[in-house]
Amino acid sequence: MLTEAAAVVIGSGALGASVAFHLVAAGLKPVALLDQHAIGGETSPRAAGLTQQVRGSDLMTDLARRSVEKITRFAGETGQPIVYVQSGSMKIARTAAHARQLREEVEHGQRCGIDIDLISPAEAARRNPFLRPTGITAVSFAKTDLYLEPGQIPRLYARAFGERGGVLLPHTRVSGVLREDGEVKGVLTEQGTIRTPVVIDAAGAWTRRVGRLLDTRIGAVATRHQLFITEPIDGVEPMQPITRVIDCNAYMRPADGGLMLGGYEADPVQVDMANLPAGFSIADLALDISVLHRLAEQISEQFPVFRRIAIREHRGGLPTMTADGEHILGPWPGLKGFYVAGGCCVGGLSIAPILGELLAAWVITGSPGLDLSPLSPGRAAVADLDETTLAEACRRNYAYHYWAPDTRPA
Ligand SMILES: Cc1cc2nc3c(=O)[nH]c(=O)nc-3n(C[C@H](O)[C@H](O)[C@H](O)COP(=O)(O)OP(=O)(O)OC[C@H]3O[C@@H](n4cnc5c(N)ncnc54)[C@H](O)[C@@H]3O)c2cc1C
Repeated sequence: MLTEAAAVVIGSGALGASVAFHLVAAGLKPVALLDQHAIGGETSPRAAGLTQQVRGSDLMTDLARRSVEKITRFAGETGQPIVYVQSGSMKIARTAAHARQLREEVEHGQRCGIDIDLISPAEAARRNPFLRPTGITAVSFAKTDLYLEPGQIPRLYARAFGERGGVLLPHTRVSGVLREDGEVKGVLTEQGTIRTPVVIDAAGAWTRRVGRLLDTRIGAVATRHQLFITEPIDGVEPMQPITRVIDCNAYMRPADGGLMLGGYEADPVQVDMANLPAGFSIADLALDISVLHRLAEQISEQFPVFRRIAIREHRGGLPTMTADGEHILGPWPGLKGFYVAGGCCVGGLSIAPILGELLAAWVITGSPGLDLSPLSPGRAAVADLDETTLAEACRRNYAYHYWAPDTRPA
């Protein structure tokens, strides 16, 4: 067992594996990547694997664009072959307010250098032949969005990390963090202590729980999110674009000859990980297919295909929501050497490549190279809200996931 490390990353999902890879790629040694379970086996491989480059701010749109570019350069950067489909993505509005939202998103995206435009409902139906172009008020198409089998991101970053001398420690749960005089000194595990000046909390649904080991309160709420994949359907082709429907927060894409459907319900299950047994794994999470059947019904006018489906796979996980809908990335204020990479807001898989690169630069050089204060772990929306306010703000950000703030009900 390793006893000393330059940095310890807790959690080998997409975010932790990306940070760990970028740390060793930048020359830091030795770095340990610890997971209480198998490497990259929890929420990350259960994701839909979609990118969405046009986000709510210039900063997030820029980061999401850079992350997609990193996925397209992944093999060159890591030496690991990755498979993705650059199908583009469509977003469908069915109300006047959401048509306005889409026009603004297109302007915003174009200003940020994204290849995005409005297309007609007929053109949308040509791109996605399962779409009936009725009841639609606007559609956007972003040409360079892509999708991929999600487990590749943590698995391939972890493999590239190992090939560069990084130390992979699966089935190694961090149960304590050592600190002295306001500085991190190491982590405790059942297999022993690793002394280190840098600890990165990339524990996904358990991010708060790890934070509590240091008496920090990280305002990110683990929230159940699910999707299904149908049996193969005639006419499904891999290049049919990712399609999102704004008002009912549903998304779909081709998946192994069938269709994947997922989405965001109004009353999601929020989970306090402190109430679960120490050995809990995402595989133990209770799922509820009725949530997805309701979503399928809500889009059945435009997608009658979902009226008669045979489901091949139903899966779900525990992404974490934040009160302001932004990720959490950076050093924890007042505790030297403690960093957080979390608050994924159901977008952590696709943004992990760039966030990992930036956090690694932050650890090594003391700066990420751009202003990431909106993602700061110490911001009021993360550090200061009472539990009730936090839970309700996170619920709303989930329930209106695709709605621009000014289109949401009060
Ligand atoms: C159905 C579904 C669809 C989704 N679709 C998308 C999508 O299309 N695009 C997108 O970008 N995102 C999507 N997401 C969200 C995405 O899955 C998450 O943002 C991402 O997986 C978060 O990665 P992570 O590394 O933070 O967490 P995880 O993958 O959960 O990794 C955290 C790891 O930390 C480990 N850990 C926790 N505590 C400890 C400890 N004390 N000691 C050691 N290890 C510990 C855990 O075992 C776990 O392996 C989706 C999620 C779901 C569930």
